[in-house]
Order: sequence, then structure tokens, then C-alpha cells
Amino acid sequence: MKLITYLEGGRERVGRLDGDTVRPVGGFSSMLELIRSGQDLTTLRLLDPAPLSSVKLLSPIPEPGQDVICLGLNYQAHAEESARFKQSVFERPEAAVYFSKRMSRAVAPNDPIEGHLELDEQLDYEAELAVVIGRDARNVRREDAFDCVFGYTIVNDVSARGLQGKHKQWYFAKSLDGFTPMGPCIVTADEFDRPPALPIRSFVNGEPRQNANTDQLIFDIPYIIAELSGGMTLRAGTIISTGTPAGVGMGMQPPRFLKKGDVVRCEIEGIGALENPIA
Ligand code: MG
Repeated sequence: MKLITYLEGGRERVGRLDGDTVRPVGGFSSMLELIRSGQDLTTLRLLDPAPLSSVKLLSPIPEPGQDVICLGLNYQAHAEESARFKQSVFERPEAAVYFSKRMSRAVAPNDPIEGHLELDEQLDYEAELAVVIGRDARNVRREDAFDCVFGYTIVNDVSARGLQGKHKQWYFAKSLDGFTPMGPCIVTADEFDRPPALPIRSFVNGEPRQNANTDQLIFDIPYIIAELSGGMTLRAGTIISTGTPAGVGMGMQPPRFLKKGDVVRCEIEGIGALENPIA
């Protein structure tokens, strides 16, 4: 099932996407409310359909409850290109690299990304599979991890590489306003294998950049959920962005960063495409 958040008459609504048709979901004013309710999704109250083209699509979770949890260097080829950019030697991480990304408001599909190029000209994209947690999770075993997953979406972990190097820590460089496009929908967990093995790609102005598969994560989804929930409660609605594959701008030789007017497209098969221009 594909679930979306959209605007209708200025009001935020949750809907089920059936092809090009939206079925509004009654009884919930937001996706977070729906997720936290624990409602059986087979019993949703669906209202009269409307064409998708008649509504304004928003990010599926426009304003998260907490910062997005991110994985760094979680695809080997990307870890290698990052080391090359930093002129350091690649070492396969022995432990997962976790960091946090502030997202006051997610950028909707097709909406512009505020580039903040006056702060940093080294603007970059990162296509990522994001996991949305479906129930409060504490001390979850690896084998039970997928029972905690509500669904999956796409995050573009937009990054200011200059700030990333300057501050030695990724938080500011990845948390500027508008640096988290997310969407276009959440695909519920039952739709995919455990773990999901989905082709993931990105394009800049139509030119292919990233091309990998989400089964190539160094630290996979059960590992991440088991490890984190072993020490911190992952509340229902938590978003975990699992890291990006090789092919980002900083990894190119020479590096190629985003400019105003560029269009970034992140795709994951089975979820869809998330496309945004740089403002
Ligand atoms: Mg990332």
C-alpha cells in the first residue's frame, strides 16, 4: 500500500494512492497520527477518490516528531569515494556511523531545495532508502526488527560538503532549512522483501549519478534497529535514513557540486521518484 500526505483546500490530509487516484483516509489528520495509532491498515476508512493531479502532494511526513536518524558511510563504494574526497585512506567501518539530521519541514516532491549557496558552494545530493518505524521499539531482536517497520520512503540527504569539513561534524551541514526532500509516498513494509532489495538511483539534470541496490547496506536494517533500540527507544514515526551509495558529487573526479537550477531526481524501484530543483 502506498500512503501519501497532500493538501486539499489548504488542509493536510492522508491518503492511499491507487495508481493515479487518491483515496482520502478518514479519521486521521496526519501520517504521524495514523502511524502512532497502530491502526490495522486493512481496515482504513477510505473516502471518495480524487485524481492525484488535482491535489498538492506533500512529503509523507511533513514534520517529523524528532530529528531524522541517519547512517553514514553505509555502502562500501560510497565510503571509498568519501575517503578519496577527504584524501584519507578507506577503512571498512567496524561499527555503524550514526548521526542526526534536523528536518523542521520536509521538502515536498517537486518543490525547490533551498541551496544556501551563499553559505557553501559545495552542495551535494544523497539518494537514500528511509525506514519509518511503526511502533515504539525498545530492545528489539534482529529477527523481530521488521515487525517494527511501518514502511519505506526516499530521502535526499542534501549536504553542504564545505560545512561538513569545516565543522568536523555533519549535523549543521545536513540540517540547513530545506535539506531534506522526502517522498513521494510511504510504501508499507508488507510490500517488500525483508530486507528490501530495491534498485536505487539518482540523476542530476537527467544524467545518471548513483546506481546501486538497497541490499548492499554494510549495516542492514535489522542490525540498525536492534542496535539502536538496545539503548534508545525508537518511537513510532521515527525516520531512519540508511545511507547513500556511491556516485555523489563529491565522489566525482573532479568533484561536481549542484548549482542553482539543477534538478535532482532520486529513485527507488517500488517506491517512486523524488525530484527537486535547486533554488
Ligand atoms: Mg547520507
